[in-house]
Amino acid sequence: MPLIVIVDDRVSNRNIFAKLAASIEADITVRTFGEPLSALEWLKDNTPDLVITDYKMPNFDGAEFISRFRLLSHCEEVPVIVITVYQERIFRLCALEAGATDFLHSPVDHHEFVTRARNLLKLHKHQLLLADRANMLEQELVNSERTHELALRDSSERLAQVIDTVPAMIRATDKDGKLLFVNAYQAAFDGVDAATIIGNHSEAVHGQERSARDAALDKIVFETGKALPSFEEDLLDVNGATRVFLTTKSPLKSNNEAISGVLTSSLDISARKRMEAHLRHQAHHDQLTGLPNRVLLNERMRKLVARARRGDQLFALHTIDFDGFKAINDLLGHAAGDRFIEAISKRLQSSMRDCDTLARVGGDEFAVLQSDVSDTQDAAEFAIRLLSIVEQSADLEDIPLSITASIGIAIHPADGADAESLLRNSDLAMYRAKAEKGSHFCFYASDMTLRARQLVVLDKRLQRAFENGEFILHYQPQVDVASGKLIGAEALLRWQDPEHGLIGPNMFLPHAEENGLIVPINEWVLQKACEDAKGWQRFGLENICVSVNMSPIQFRRRTVPLHVARVLASTGLEPRLLDIELTEGIVMSSIDTVIADMQHLVNLGIGISIDDFGTGYSSLSYVKKLPVSRLKIDQSFIKNLATDLSDAAIVRAIITLGRSLNLKVLAEGVETAELFARLQAEGCDQAQGYYFGRPISNDGFIEAFGNISRLSKSV
Ligand code: C2E
Ligand code: MG
Ligand code: MG
Repeated sequence: MPLIVIVDDRVSNRNIFAKLAASIEADITVRTFGEPLSALEWLKDNTPDLVITDYKMPNFDGAEFISRFRLLSHCEEVPVIVITVYQERIFRLCALEAGATDFLHSPVDHHEFVTRARNLLKLHKHQLLLADRANMLEQELVNSERTHELALRDSSERLAQVIDTVPAMIRATDKDGKLLFVNAYQAAFDGVDAATIIGNHSEAVHGQERSARDAALDKIVFETGKALPSFEEDLLDVNGATRVFLTTKSPLKSNNEAISGVLTSSLDISARKRMEAHLRHQAHHDQLTGLPNRVLLNERMRKLVARARRGDQLFALHTIDFDGFKAINDLLGHAAGDRFIEAISKRLQSSMRDCDTLARVGGDEFAVLQSDVSDTQDAAEFAIRLLSIVEQSADLEDIPLSITASIGIAIHPADGADAESLLRNSDLAMYRAKAEKGSHFCFYASDMTLRARQLVVLDKRLQRAFENGEFILHYQPQVDVASGKLIGAEALLRWQDPEHGLIGPNMFLPHAEENGLIVPINEWVLQKACEDAKGWQRFGLENICVSVNMSPIQFRRRTVPLHVARVLASTGLEPRLLDIELTEGIVMSSIDTVIADMQHLVNLGIGISIDDFGTGYSSLSYVKKLPVSRLKIDQSFIKNLATDLSDAAIVRAIITLGRSLNLKVLAEGVETAELFARLQAEGCDQAQGYYFGRPISNDGFIEAFGNISRLSKSV
């Protein structure tokens, strides 16, 4: 129902205007006032739809009335018609400024009054409707946002609750390594409060080393946008106990698909690992004595063979067999026989160094793997000690009993290149010792003069091979782990013997080192490798680095830097594209002079890698002192990376060390996609191995990796 208010001091006017107003529509309410103050008083609590006021009134005029009326907040938009006898513009302006909407001239034309009033009422009604609609819309919007927000909050809270009940550690970190989220399990494991730790850097919780490793892995996820393959890791809980986890890292994407963080989840697999370790221990150990069995002996021997590839590390296999043990068994029974074996094995074990392995390989048969043997005399003295330990008597049911043994010795590499032939040959030697009525030891190659004669023949053959140009180089690719791109190749020496075909370096390098031929051979290797690497550039292999192995003998002469500088000058190969591989053995042999030579090489601008890292002194601290640019992790650690926790720990330690010293780390012997994925997860920089390519001829290398279209153009 529209409400019209009329303010006029003349009764006749009020009545006429009221009548006119009432005639506008059917159900209009009209309220009239004789003076402005009482009208304003009433209007404080009522909202009219139209006000019609006289200009000239007692107390104050129409302009004053309107400006006070407009101060009432609910009346700001109400239309006001002013009725005035004044024609002057000044009055109209005053009224307009005060907030009047329209004017009617007095005496009022009735028709005009009704028309104007009706129009203004209509307009006002329309405005009210629009304002109402806008309010409603705004309210709807606010309501829907609230419900959406509530639903979101509800679902993320529920999700967080679910994640808190999962028996795995789950956390998310941002690009800077700050914690975005940790679940209850993770917080409990780390001994922190999940709510307060958010926003802190993960280093605050996990320490510098682990958070640096995590950061390197997270970086791969940010860069590739892909999850990393799962990997196993050892973590310390708040009590300092080690637990094994299977960890996965995957990208956390926001609405617009950008990666906002990395989600790391780790499942505790300690129980499974303990079970596996137990089963592995059983499969590798003898039940009676707890000593390693033949399987473990073989495994250790294979590792030693791998680490002694260069022939600069000798080791010996002693096979021990008791003489006449059957008599003890027959006399006292098997149970007593077992106790006798146990007693002797304990005595033998207590005389072993940590680096040696004592194994029980049969009923009364033992074997000892003696590492770091300097010469045959060393092995002979060790065997004599073993014989005397066996011969000490043991009390069995108060009867003092003693026994003798026979020992056969095979020395690697002279008496066998692999585990199988060493076992076979030390067995043969043991039977020969037994034939000499026991308590005796025999070497497999007893005929030392024959061996010496064979060496003279090999000397001559090698000399001739060198003169006839029978040595060749093969190249094996090295790749960047993150991108999988080729970055370099290692030059590996081969002997193309017209009689016996292609011969690997293990077969002749140890001897060439003994007779000094290694020096001219390796000078040739360096020259040829640099020439070949320069040649690669014509086939699109512009930034491919060549790695050359150096022998300790070369470093004794102190001419290596000079020779390298000459070769670089004559071939025109940029120094940054040459990498020299040295073993820990070379470096440690005479550390000060070698460091001086290495520094010269670095000053030339070439790179230096420590080859077969981890097999030698494995002293991580000495690396800091050396001017090296890369560590090549030995392949013996890479092979069992996924299954052997101690190998995995060594690899991880080397990668961490490399990162902290700003050195590149290359993994050697990568044979499978699984190993490659694993190394990616560990954050290793570079890799080399059969998975990327076996060593091949220079032509083969260019064909496989170079741009062949350039090859055909240049030919
Ligand atoms: P290295 O420097 O550690 O070279 C890597 C050896 O591992 C090479 O054996 C290579 O063929 C092998 N290898 C590479 N990837 C894999 C893999 O995935 N699985 C397995 N099982 N083996 C892999 P190679 O060519 O028989 O060389 C043996 C050693 O001989 C070299 O070990 C190096 O110490 C020495 N050598 C080779 N060429 C030269 C040379 O020109 N001068 C000197 N002084 N030594 C050399
Ligand atoms: Mg090498
Ligand atoms: Mg190596």
